[in-house]
Amino acid sequence: MSDLNKLGLAEARDALRKGEVTSVELTESCLTAIDAADALNAFVHKTPEIALERAKAADERIKGGDAPSMCGLPIGIKDLFCTKGVPSQAASKILEGFKPEYESTVSQQLADAGAVMLGKLNMDEFAMGSSNETSVYGNAVSPWRRGNDDAQLTPGGSSGGSASAVSADLCLAATGTDTGGSIRQPAAFTGITGIKPTYGRCSRWGIVAFASSLDQAGPMTKNVRDAAIMLEAMCGHDPKDSTSAELAVPNFEAMLTGDIKGKKIGIPKEYRMDGMPAEIEKLWADGAEMLKDAGAEIVDISLPHTKYALPAYYVIAPAEASSNLARYDGVRYGRRAQLAQGDGITEMYEKTRAEGFGHEVQRRVMIGTYVLSAGFYDAYYNRARKVRTLIKKDFEDAFAAGVDAILTPATPSASFGLGEMTEADPVQMYLNDVFTVTVNLAGLPGVSVPAGLDKQGLPLGLQLIGRPWEEGDLLNTAYALENAAGFVAKPTKWW
Ligand code: GLN
Repeated sequence: MSDLNKLGLAEARDALRKGEVTSVELTESCLTAIDAADALNAFVHKTPEIALERAKAADERIKGGDAPSMCGLPIGIKDLFCTKGVPSQAASKILEGFKPEYESTVSQQLADAGAVMLGKLNMDEFAMGSSNETSVYGNAVSPWRRGNDDAQLTPGGSSGGSASAVSADLCLAATGTDTGGSIRQPAAFTGITGIKPTYGRCSRWGIVAFASSLDQAGPMTKNVRDAAIMLEAMCGHDPKDSTSAELAVPNFEAMLTGDIKGKKIGIPKEYRMDGMPAEIEKLWADGAEMLKDAGAEIVDISLPHTKYALPAYYVIAPAEASSNLARYDGVRYGRRAQLAQGDGITEMYEKTRAEGFGHEVQRRVMIGTYVLSAGFYDAYYNRARKVRTLIKKDFEDAFAAGVDAILTPATPSASFGLGEMTEADPVQMYLNDVFTVTVNLAGLPGVSVPAGLDKQGLPLGLQLIGRPWEEGDLLNTAYALENAAGFVAKPTKWW
């Protein structure tokens, strides 16, 4: 077999079990692809020794007839996950040199399931961003281009390295995290699948915290089946995370029948945004038609508080971030600024944080501190929390009326050029999350499925939002959509 790096998880798993390939061969193929793809800046810490060691161990297990679900499958890990002895920097200067003494629960579960870690993937600093441009490593680049135009495009963010690596076949799959859309938006921008599970499905232990009431890990994969396989390995109760749910994890892959007859799919009218490109409107309508042809019933629904989601998110997420990021003080982790004669502890904090955090992170810490300050707490933070409850209730009402899943566009546009959105207007960047933040605020599962190309040849994704804890059913609807959309486009290799 050639081009083993191009395989998906399920295909590679089946080939491994049949003895057609070895994990070492798969891993070497990915390592070669990674080394030839520095132009994408997707992998920021490569771990070939760990990868080959795990691949050899996986081959032994497979030979011994003891192959767990991800056995021998090479994947990338977002830099937000703490990985023991391996740099874990959350793409921030302030965590320079930080090598954790522990492994995140999710990456440990993947390793226990036999997965092979190839290295750490680029991302926006502390997962704040939608374009991977806030990374201390420099931005990851999308493997996609607008026709023959060689302008570099964003793979999206914050899981931009994960998206770029999976889309360019540098690995079979990757982990991502999603606080306001960071799995689903980059997946949509790069023509891959990404699911953010229900809040509490995956343990947050050992994942650098951004906004703890919103953060969830999830898989970014080449197709829906792979997402089901990898999600199952990532999920489960963890006593080390008090918000992780004590619920059994079903066999998600077994739930992929493609049969969605009689399912009710809601189309929320509030997601029809002014100025949305006609192509996205059309893709959305086509997606509804595909689900209808597959036997689902399409119903119009209303989620009336949608327009308040983005402002509420950009109060709640910075508030939690300002608290979570207080720990980076130059004492406990990573980097400390050079101090001048006579500097005391206050100067040490100030200098370390001023040079260690990038602009976007500083902006969020300041907004968060402001909305939590004594005089403004009620006006901003408490108000945003009330709005959050209303947004959650909108979804609950829709589900109570019998809706099984909700179909929306994943993003309001296709991927854009690096540098096209200026730092002078951060709100322009925040608008990328308009269709995804609602799902985090409500704690629901959401999946992005590639469904078409725009006229420049760039991928577009559709989002399906499901009932809490029903990722299996949601993935099955996504599977039906994937089958109907038949998206097979790949970027033309230029790197
Ligand atoms: N783009 C959003 C933000 O900047 C979401 C990020 C995320 O999901 N981690 O906050």
